[in-house]
Amino acid sequence: MTSQPVSAPARAPRPLLDVRRVYLEPAAAELPRGRQVLARWPDAERVEVDSHWRIPELAGDEANVDRWVRIKTEALVLGVKKSLTARPNGRSSDFVAPSTANGCAMACAYCYVPRRKGFSNPVTVFANIEQICRYTARHVARQGLKSVPDQVDPSAWVYDIGENSDCSVDARISDNVRDLVDTFRGLPTAKASFATKHVNRDLLDWDPQGRTRIRFSLMPDADSRLLDVRTERIADRIAAIDDFVAAGYEVHVNLSPVVVRAGWLADWADLLDHLASGTGQAFKDQAAAEIIFLTHNEPLHEVNLRWHPKAEHLLWTPETQQAKVSQTGGRNVRYRNGFKGARVRELTELIAERTPWLRVRYAF
Ligand code: SF4
Repeated sequence: MTSQPVSAPARAPRPLLDVRRVYLEPAAAELPRGRQVLARWPDAERVEVDSHWRIPELAGDEANVDRWVRIKTEALVLGVKKSLTARPNGRSSDFVAPSTANGCAMACAYCYVPRRKGFSNPVTVFANIEQICRYTARHVARQGLKSVPDQVDPSAWVYDIGENSDCSVDARISDNVRDLVDTFRGLPTAKASFATKHVNRDLLDWDPQGRTRIRFSLMPDADSRLLDVRTERIADRIAAIDDFVAAGYEVHVNLSPVVVRAGWLADWADLLDHLASGTGQAFKDQAAAEIIFLTHNEPLHEVNLRWHPKAEHLLWTPETQQAKVSQTGGRNVRYRNGFKGARVRELTELIAERTPWLRVRYAF
């Protein structure tokens, strides 16, 4: 890895990462991973902070998209993950592993990744990776064998390693993701799993031996052009699938978020046809999909109206949505029960017709 800016997709006005400033907890900078990250951007200014959470100048300005995208591009935070826990999950994975990063250099309009570092939410890398890998391996050992097959996996305990970030981007910043992939290669009863909207071909050399599942997120290109900001194009994600299968990854797809609008089902049909024609039999033999219909959020809607109102035409549709207060007290909206049930049926029937080899792990 060099200190050169990482190339972003052609449509992005600036590189995905061009780190100029690293905010660091001193303890993180002393760890080998911290030193490695600092060596990767030797010219970046170093700013000591007490905590990776409380950095007011990184909060960004909700109304100034240029400013917060610049923060995403140029700022990096280096911290130590204090509390290590693997949380039961149950739908996408069995457990959520302790995160090795949070925040994201991309800027999807519907992003639900918590923005505790403010609206810009740049990437924080946790430098205590050895501790995190050891904790995760011990947690796997405590589970023993998975004796009851389920939709998550027939025999492996699956750990989501990218709940708070996009691992393909994180892997451009440090070796944390690679260390996790290496750890899971040696854990025959478990698998790592993460969803991604970025194609990082560096991962093709890592020899995961089937113990890491990558879930490429897909949606119709028309929706993605509007809603996915700074991500890889849908065609590029599909074009990468066979290479990741050949490199030893299990590859699934996340059909998410599903946004219901005029003509949505026809565009999903085109996307499924593209997935079928753009991938080979090895992918199809192991493919599975998670389907997640859009969940939106009132504060995010208010923010988006100020910088990306066109996105809100798709995302905020009170006539078909209902509110639900989340566990953390936030007011989320999702499609109304009966309406959503009918759309879920339409999409799963479409998948059965267009891509009958694509097993639907769950749809909600
Ligand atoms: S890629 Fe994922 S984490 Fe990053 S902004 Fe988009 S939805 Fe959020």
